Amino acid sequence: MKAFYFVMLLGLFSTISLQAQQREYVLLVHGGAGNITSVEKDDAKSGLYYAALDSALMIGNAILSAGGEGEEAVRAVIRYFESNPLFNAGVGATCTVDGTFELDAAIMRGRDLSAGTVAGVKLVKHPIEAAYSVMTASPHVMLSGAGAEDFARSNGLEMVATNEYFATPKTQRWIDELKQSSKKNGTVGCVVLDSKGNLTAGTSTGGMFKKKWGRIGDSPIIGAGTYADNAGCAVSCTGHGEYFIRHAVAYDVCARYKYLKQSVGEAASTIIHHVLNAEAGNGGLIAVDKEGNFAMPFNSSGMYRGYIYKDAETGKWKKGVGIGNKMIEDVQH
Ligand code: ASP
Repeated sequence: MKAFYFVMLLGLFSTISLQAQQREYVLLVHGGAGNITSVEKDDAKSGLYYAALDSALMIGNAILSAGGEGEEAVRAVIRYFESNPLFNAGVGATCTVDGTFELDAAIMRGRDLSAGTVAGVKLVKHPIEAAYSVMTASPHVMLSGAGAEDFARSNGLEMVATNEYFATPKTQRWIDELKQSSKKNGTVGCVVLDSKGNLTAGTSTGGMFKKKWGRIGDSPIIGAGTYADNAGCAVSCTGHGEYFIRHAVAYDVCARYKYLKQSVGEAASTIIHHVLNAEAGNGGLIAVDKEGNFAMPFNSSGMYRGYIYKDAETGKWKKGVGIGNKMIEDVQH
């Protein structure tokens, strides 16, 4: 039987940037950023999130350790999050001002820069799968609304009967009230460097609470909330989407890495802590570069997040999950 040990690390972990080293693969996840320190302090609540983040990591790990491709791992991890009501994606998505659910998702392949995104879909069970179909089975990059649904249906994707499928008791209460000014930060994302050296990024979200007029956030916009390029990094963002769109955040991390030769940690931290902070654009991102270095900075009080990688030399994985500044780490024996 495998033995594991847990290490509690306290301190400032807003950015985890590790030295370059041999990693067979790396997988990072986020489950949204926001003012979530109260969650970290609540043992029962935080336990649910740590467990969910850990499950996501282990789903991806099973695929990658068996030699699976990054895009397979990204899709499986995001499908898991989309089925988990704790997160603002799929079931559990936040609602529009009309009390409906409009879902956005994107996936991008760093190998050839192919990408697929859907925006404002209401009946696709797994928006990440619709995004994947756009990437692999259409000549387009981005589809929206009813057209995206027709496309998903004709590609045999699982559809739900009504938009209420995505409601949970909690979101139903918000719909009933619709008074709060902001609810739910839990967009999900996954980035991977796989054993073939390919980078993949994916993001899925219900968007911002009380959004209206068909608002589309950064998540399904290639270069804003999602980007992958084998010559640079794979990035998935979460936070106040309008700011991430204005600053082309995901692409900017890659551009800083490629052209300014910044490390992924420096590139990610500069944009999250300096560029966005200056404008109060709250949020964070996860990013991994082609060598397996990674960063997970956030400028809000917390970001649900996790990492797992396999050390090429020892063949063992190392992983960690966090909400606020604390990370809970675990090493395979
Ligand atoms: N970035 C998402 C959006 O603006 C929301 C989030 O990450 O919480 O749609």
